[in-house]
Amino acid sequence: MKARSLILVVEDNEANQMLVRAVLELEGFDVRIAGSGPEALDVLGDCVPDLILMDVQLPGQDGLTLTRLIKADSATAAVPIVALTAHAMTGDRELALDAGCIAYISKPIDTRTFGVQVRQLLSAGVENDGRRAVAQ
Ligand code: MN
Repeated sequence: MKARSLILVVEDNEANQMLVRAVLELEGFDVRIAGSGPEALDVLGDCVPDLILMDVQLPGQDGLTLTRLIKADSATAAVPIVALTAHAMTGDRELALDAGCIAYISKPIDTRTFGVQVRQLLSAGVENDGRRAVAQ
């Protein structure tokens, strides 16, 4: 594995983009940010990240539709995707797993634990293709 892992964050909210980037960079990750589905696909045409953090609610194409597209493309199908969801309902979490996410993290993120959570999911995603959920 590379010394530094690359995380692609798909998130449309600027305050969240800055917060997530700051926490992940402190944790020692390289970070790319995409504000929409098309932007995310642009980034993925350019590089293959080690993990994608996917906001479920995006303008236009939503995060779960985008997840299915990424999973359907052989170039990116193996990249683990973790949903970032403000949805509290269990059904929405199941939808995220059903779309191909390995886990979900509830928003707003907990800045004290987010970096460690992402690191754990990254090693889980690399070692094991199976799906797992993060209890919040
Ligand atoms: Mn959003």
